[in-house]
Amino acid sequence: MKLTKDFKGDMKETQICQGCWEHMHMPTAIRGPFSAFFRTFGIKRSKMHPNMCTFCESNFAKIMKHKQVPVSTTILFADIRGYTDLSQQIEPEKLNELLHQFYDRCSAAVWEKDGIVNKFIGDAVLAIFNFPLIRKDHVQNAVSAAVQLQKDCKHMKEEIGLSDFQTLGVGIGIHTGESYVGEVGTTYKDFTAIGPVVNLTSRLQGAAGVGEIMVTEEVFSQVKEQFPDAQKKALTLKGINSTVDGYVLA
Ligand SMILES: [Zn+2]
Repeated sequence: MKLTKDFKGDMKETQICQGCWEHMHMPTAIRGPFSAFFRTFGIKRSKMHPNMCTFCESNFAKIMKHKQVPVSTTILFADIRGYTDLSQQIEPEKLNELLHQFYDRCSAAVWEKDGIVNKFIGDAVLAIFNFPLIRKDHVQNAVSAAVQLQKDCKHMKEEIGLSDFQTLGVGIGIHTGESYVGEVGTTYKDFTAIGPVVNLTSRLQGAAGVGEIMVTEEVFSQVKEQFPDAQKKALTLKGINSTVDGYVLA
């Protein structure tokens, strides 16, 4: 079933893997005639970012001889609010389209800013910035991706004809700090980021309202000039002992 055209951002597709090139100066072909050669070794385009290869997803951790590598990251969680309510009110095809379009828009916004879409968990998305593509402006990049995503999702709601559903929208949480990136699990190995920064981001996202971007002090201090009307909130978050200062970017 294909209801609409796939959403594509402005990102340029590259012939070689950006991750391999930046880390090792290795020209791993992911498009074009030479990509067939790499595919014979099982290296192909990553699903987490179209300009990276599958080798980059997991193997940096191995090269560094650690299972999980501590890296400075910015973590972004986004999810659809009002999804469960909506699922009882509209037909499954429409719901499917909403989810499909949400994933597309998340991916486009995150990729555009050199982040990777690590996971889709039901109606939520986990994105990682500053790994494997190292960017000095990773905090700023994550915030820009979030702003873009909120804008795109508003359009999406209109396009699909769901504007009347007031409680439907996207909530986003962003935090930055050291996370452990690598393969987690023994039977089913899963490449992801773990640690307190990831947990706090997930809770923060839960505290964000429809259409809101909720960030921590660490994030806000780096982008505050752009958001003079941001609202500070003392948040009590599940599983976190002290209150956390959250900033709703507006
Ligand atoms: Zn690569």
